[in-house]
Amino acid sequence: MRLLLFGAPGVGKGTQAKLLSAKFNIPHISTGDILRQAVKDETELGKKAQEIMSRGDLVPDDIMIGIIKYRLGKSDCKTGFILDGFPRTTNQAVELDKLLQEMSIDDIKLINIYADEEEIVKRLSSRRACKKCDHIFSLSEIEHSKTCPDCKAKDSFYLREDDKEEVIRKRLEVFRKSTEPVLNYYKKQGKVISINGIGSVAEVNKELLKILYE
Ligand code: AMP
Repeated sequence: MRLLLFGAPGVGKGTQAKLLSAKFNIPHISTGDILRQAVKDETELGKKAQEIMSRGDLVPDDIMIGIIKYRLGKSDCKTGFILDGFPRTTNQAVELDKLLQEMSIDDIKLINIYADEEEIVKRLSSRRACKKCDHIFSLSEIEHSKTCPDCKAKDSFYLREDDKEEVIRKRLEVFRKSTEPVLNYYKKQGKVISINGIGSVAEVNKELLKILYE
């Protein structure tokens, strides 16, 4: 199975990608996670990406395409993969198509998760990340505890720079301008499956699996 999880920031792509990755035993490749790790490790890539990401802008296409080429070339991607956060521009989509053609892959599907923008702003500004394991939680999941449910780190929750309201609004604007056209690119190829992202994680996942099995 080869899926592209598509949607505005905060719509739940990462959460659903993790569940699908565990269910189908295929890697979850989040370009946002790759960049955040590079920032943490203070690599050359991280140094370039940090400021761009905290502004809510997009990292240049050539860098992102290089990252994806390298990652999809790894052996764990042979049986399938889930891309989360890539492609984010039509140029990235065109380059991904070329790469998949070279890899003789023609069975990708784009899962378009959609939601109301104000709902997204609410969701993103009320989520917190763990400094140690980077996992994300809603405030309601962690309100009674200062311990990360996943890695057990204490007092490790923080509001990501790019989850601050003014940056969220910028990210949504970038999504509308640069990323939404990607949807039409794949619609023309008949590869889009759309799903409503409003609902509990379990509800959206159930709907997603139903569609994938159809
Ligand atoms: P995400 O966690 O997917 O919301 O990504 C966080 C940030 O990483 C984005 O706001 C961008 O700055 C950057 N980023 C992630 N994926 C891409 C991509 N495919 N193209 C350009 N920038 C990206």
